[in-house]
Amino acid sequence: MFVDKARIKIKAGDGGDGAVSFHREKYVAAGGPDGGDGGSGGNVVFQVDDNFSTLIDFRYKRKYIAQNGENGGSKRCTGKSAPDLVIRVPRGTVIREADTGRIMADMSDDEPKILAKGGRGGKGNSNFATSTRQIPRFAKPGFPGESFDVTLELKLLADVGLVGFPNVGKSTLISVVSAAKPKIANYHFTTLTPVLGVVRLDEERSFVMADIPGLIEGASEGIGLGHEFLRHVERCRLILHVLDVSGIEGRDPIDDFEKINKELANFSEALAECPQIVVANKSDMATPEQIAALQEYIEGLGLQFFTISAATTQGTGALMDAVGYKLSELPPVKVFEAQPLSPEEWESRFASKQEFEVEVEDGIYYVSAVWLEPVLRTVNMEDYSSLQYFQRVLRSSGIIDKLEEMGIEEGDTVNIFGFEFDYIR
Ligand code: GDP
Ligand code: MG
Repeated sequence: MFVDKARIKIKAGDGGDGAVSFHREKYVAAGGPDGGDGGSGGNVVFQVDDNFSTLIDFRYKRKYIAQNGENGGSKRCTGKSAPDLVIRVPRGTVIREADTGRIMADMSDDEPKILAKGGRGGKGNSNFATSTRQIPRFAKPGFPGESFDVTLELKLLADVGLVGFPNVGKSTLISVVSAAKPKIANYHFTTLTPVLGVVRLDEERSFVMADIPGLIEGASEGIGLGHEFLRHVERCRLILHVLDVSGIEGRDPIDDFEKINKELANFSEALAECPQIVVANKSDMATPEQIAALQEYIEGLGLQFFTISAATTQGTGALMDAVGYKLSELPPVKVFEAQPLSPEEWESRFASKQEFEVEVEDGIYYVSAVWLEPVLRTVNMEDYSSLQYFQRVLRSSGIIDKLEEMGIEEGDTVNIFGFEFDYIR
C-alpha cells in the first residue's frame, strides 16, 4: 500500500535532574556538596533514507519518544545524556506542525534535522556552593523536552511530472525512457502509486521523471483518483502533459487537455503556472489530420508540441532531449523553506507559565526559566532589534524587576542558560 500522509507525535527526552549529595570520606566530618548535573534528554531527529518510499510505517507506530537524560549522581557524576531518536523517512517528506500547519522541515537533502530538542539536565547542588552558602540542599530539575504533533506528507522529488487522463500512455512512456517498470494495461487506473524513473540522456545529464496515477475530471474536488496524487507534481519543474491523439477511447484530446489544465489550476496556482510540454501519444493509431489539428491548437497556445508513440518508442528520444534542454533553463526542484516560530510566537506559547528563578553566585545573577530557553534560542544577539525584543521579554516578564530587587548593579553579570551579559540600566 502506498501511504503518503501520516500524523504522529514526537517528544524529545527530558533532562535528568541535578543531584543533591555531599562528599563522604572517612575521618572527614562534613564534606562539601558534590551532586552532579543531570544529563540532557535525547533529541528527535529526522533523517532521509532512500530505502523507504512510503510513509506506511507511520500508520502503525504513531508515537516517537526519545529517552530522558539520567539524573546526576554523587561525586559530581553527571548523568548520562540520552541518545537521539532518529526517525527515517523517504526523501521528499515535508514535516509540518499539526496545529498551525507551519513547515518544520522539508526532508529533501541528506542532512539530519532536529525537530524536537531534548531538555537540558538540571544542575546538581555542587554548582550552588558559595562562601555564604556552604551546604546547598537543593538541585535543579531537568528541563522538559520539546514535543509536537506533526504531519508528514510525502511530496516526491522529481524534475518532470507526467500528467494526463488514464490510459493515455504515461506509464508506457516512462517504461521506455527509464528503467522504471510500472504496471501497464489497457484499463483505467492501473497506476495506483506514483513511480519514479531516472532518464539518462548521456553520461552527465539525467533527470527524474514521475508517473502519477491518471487524473480524472473533478479530481481536485476529491472525486475519484487524482487529487491525492497531484501533490507529487507540486515540486516538479516541468509537466509533460500526455494526450491520446488517436482518441481511441472516444474522447477528444483538446477537451482532455483543457480539463486536465483546469484540474491543475484548481489544485494550486503553482501547478497552473508550471511549464508544460504537450505530448501527443498513440500517434501510430492516429490519422495525420488528427495530429495536425491537435498540433495547431497546442502550438497556437504557444506551447511546445511533440508527437510520439510510446508503444513503438517513435519520437521518445527527441522528446527526452527536448525535456533535458528545457530543464537546463528552469529553476531547480522546489524545496520548501522551514518556517520557525518567531520569538513572539514562542513567547506567547509559553506566556502562561512565565515563572522564573534568579540566584546570585559570586556576584553573577543566574536566571532560569523553562519558557525562556526557546525564546533565547530564537534571539540573534548580534541583531539590534532582536536584542531589544529580548530585553522587552526580560522586562515584561518581571525578570528585570526581580534583578533590581535583588540589588543588581550596573556592570554586574547576568547569566541565562550560559549566555552572559552585563547588566545596564
Ligand atoms: P496510463 O494509464 O496513462 O499510464 O496508460 P498506460 O501506459 O498504462 O497505457 C494504456 C494502454 O495504452 C496500454 O494498453 C498501452 O499498451 C497502450 N499504449 C500506450 N502507449 C501507446 C502507443 O503509443 N500506441 C498504442 N497503440 N498504444 C499505446
Ligand atoms: Mg499508468
